[in-house]
Amino acid sequence: MSKESIYNCPHCGEKSFNPLTKAMAGGLNSKGRVCKACGRRCCNGQVSTIVNAVIYVIALVGVIYCYLMIDSNLWAFLLMAGCIAAAFVLTKLFDAFFMPLVRVIRNDIRS
Ligand SMILES: [Zn+2]
Repeated sequence: MSKESIYNCPHCGEKSFNPLTKAMAGGLNSKGRVCKACGRRCCNGQVSTIVNAVIYVIALVGVIYCYLMIDSNLWAFLLMAGCIAAAFVLTKLFDAFFMPLVRVIRNDIRS
């Protein structure tokens, strides 16, 4: 019996994921990632999808703010790129360390 963990596969219960593979599994709209133990697909759940959306909205507000408020094109560009990069890193960190994996619910994918 493997210990209860957010890195456990929701199909077979094996701890077949780690922070990196979980971060790469994507959200509910993705194809997910195949479990090493049972070969079925897992992805991050609804909370992850919502948190990702919120983080990207905040980043978009940051980008618009930089675009409107900063006179220097170079700095505006760097900060806008920084907002997007920070959002990307934050969503990956959230997926890597929070919330359990779920079964991929899309039925158009054969695993
Ligand atoms: Zn599995």
